Amino acid sequence: MSSAPAPHPTPVRHHDHGTWLVRFTGRMLVVCPKCGGRALVVPLPGLPEQKYYSDLLFRPRRLACAGCGAVADWTAEERGGGLVGAVPGGTEDPFFRRPLWLQTRCAGRILWAYDEEHVDALAAYVGARLRERHASPTRAMFARLPAWMKSADRRSEVLAGLATLRALARLSAPADRSDAAHERGDRPRHHGSRYFRGGPY
Ligand SMILES: [Zn+2]
Repeated sequence: MSSAPAPHPTPVRHHDHGTWLVRFTGRMLVVCPKCGGRALVVPLPGLPEQKYYSDLLFRPRRLACAGCGAVADWTAEERGGGLVGAVPGGTEDPFFRRPLWLQTRCAGRILWAYDEEHVDALAAYVGARLRERHASPTRAMFARLPAWMKSADRRSEVLAGLATLRALARLSAPADRSDAAHERGDRPRHHGSRYFRGGPY
């Protein structure tokens, strides 16, 4: 075992298996609508296990703030006999449309993430010197990242920004709120996907 290579803090090679942004919507840190501190948006507890990551966009949600006790619920809108799912993307959570807690200025843009797991996934991608794509780029999160996040010239800047997000994730008081964590109205404008009874459509 002594010949095993020492663990490297930054993986050199990144394998993209087509991870969707949806995969990271299971846990989202947002700005609390009441106190401005950190609130958590998760699927309502006690629901049957989901079959697909895309189910996450239709499941009832709860926003809860441990700091001030604020609680809010979201359910998918019913239209034409189906449910209208949330559309992830942009700097708001797609359910309550609250600004994401994890936002920071980076390379003249806004760098954002949903939670620590999302930050780690982005850091693994940005830090890699070699990126291999194993899936169609149509919905894949990594393939669709903006060019400035993928550029080798920005690598250290973006990794520093992700470190800032990781530090923000550990904070929760209203005074700890990032100056970038504010309404921006940049959520996707296209319609939500539909979920018809009987399965994803
Ligand atoms: Zn609160």
